[in-house]
This record gives sequence, structure tokens and C-alpha cells, in this order.
Amino acid sequence: MLVDSHCHLDYLQKDHDLDAVVGRAGRAGVGTLVTICTKLSEFEIVLGIAERYDNVFCSVGVHPHEAEGEGVKDSDRLIALARHERVVGIGETGLDYYYNHSPREAQIESFRAHIQAARQTGLPLIVHTRDGEDDTIEILRDEVARGPFPAVIHCFTGSAQLAAACLEMGFYISLAGVVTFKNAKELREVAAGVPLDRLLVETDSPYLAPVPKRGKTNEPAFVIHTAAFLAELRGLGPDQLAEVTTDNFFRLFGKAQRPPSSA
Ligand SMILES: [Zn+2]
Ligand SMILES: [Zn+2]
Repeated sequence: MLVDSHCHLDYLQKDHDLDAVVGRAGRAGVGTLVTICTKLSEFEIVLGIAERYDNVFCSVGVHPHEAEGEGVKDSDRLIALARHERVVGIGETGLDYYYNHSPREAQIESFRAHIQAARQTGLPLIVHTRDGEDDTIEILRDEVARGPFPAVIHCFTGSAQLAAACLEMGFYISLAGVVTFKNAKELREVAAGVPLDRLLVETDSPYLAPVPKRGKTNEPAFVIHTAAFLAELRGLGPDQLAEVTTDNFFRLFGKAQRPPSSA
């Protein structure tokens, strides 16, 4: 059994039959999904999806793109919403200096509020970071010094230096379909070196479908392709890769219940 630790089922729901999407995931061996919140104003929709399926959990948070309009300045609201039993993580949050859809100050303020919520609730922080590595490392280090919290760097596309800094802080690295892309040589080198007990897999669907599904709408079932690619890269059998990444997921996302069939 595999876990898709990061997908956006609310986006997929706009054009696709979600029962069919979740069904295809299950038949492909993807037994647990986490659908990720990007706007507090849409949290109820995301939560509704997690309530509809036994094997789908959700997060609560504000994407850095939305930090200006929707970003949280303090952690109270996040902490309150995180009490719901289907909420297993805080985010996605972080820094996106590639698109800069929100001013950097707003992104940083929101990022720090999410960290506080993760620290307070003990739920893992789901970090999105693009082109803001120095600030990401600096903020995470500064916050870790104030008190520990669990975290995963989702859809990791950063440098070896970012990976090393995050691993040193005890965080997990989640790889998406990007690692299968032809031009992702540097990322593959990083992926080859992540300790096996810190590795997660995800789709970030509906974006960035892995090879051989590139160009199609991505969906949770496709995490099998990323997992197969990583198994080969790491010299493991597909079952071993599934087992370690699933164990890692349930260790990090301790509030998510493991389905009986994968125990
Ligand atoms: Zn993201
Ligand atoms: Zn995402």
C-alpha cells in the first residue's frame, strides 16, 4: 500500500468524478490520501472531502500564493480548525519567491503563524518552498530554536543544501512526479541521498503528472509511477519502497489512522 501524502482533491473535483478518482487510487494500491488546504475560505470544502472517504485526510492552512488575501497573522484560527479529527497536518505554507503572488513579508508572517500552529498542535507542518531557500532555512532554523515541531518539505525540488538543512532539523522530504522528469538530474541526485526513513511520496495532483503520465491531469493513483521510479533509483523493490514511505507517513502524520489492510 502507498500513501499520496499531498494532493488537491478539491481542485480535481471541479472537473472529475471524485468517487472514480479515489476508487482508481485504491485499485492502484494507493490506500491513503491527504488532500491539502490552500485557502481558509475553502477549508470546509476540503474537510467535506475528507469526511466523505474513510481513507482521505486533510490539512488546514494557507498557500503562500494566498498569503496576502488569506494569510494568517496568528495561529489561533489554525489551531482551532486543526482540532477536527480529519485534520492531520498544518499547511500548505511556506515561501514562493518564484511566482511572488503575495508580497514576501505576508508570506513570511503567514509561514511563522503556521509553524506556531504546528508546534502547538504537534501536527506536521507541510512546507512549500520555491526560490526562497535562504529565507526558508533561516526561518525554519530560527523557529526550531524556539521550540521543536515536525515538518515535511513537500514536492521537494530544492538544492542538496536545502535538503541537508531540513534533514538536519529532523524534517521529512516528500518527492513528487518532478523527480521522474528528464531534466531533473540534480533533483535525482538529492533523491538518491535522502535517508530512507525520511522519505515520502506524493502527487501534488492535479499538477505535474509523473512520467509516463506527463501532460495528463495528475491524480493520486499516479503516485505509483513516482514510487516505482524511486524504488529503481534506490535499488529497492516496489514493495520495500511502499513499505518504508508508508511507515514514514504514519510516523510523521500520527493523527491519520492506518487502514487495517496495510497494517
Ligand atoms: Zn505546494
Ligand atoms: Zn500542493
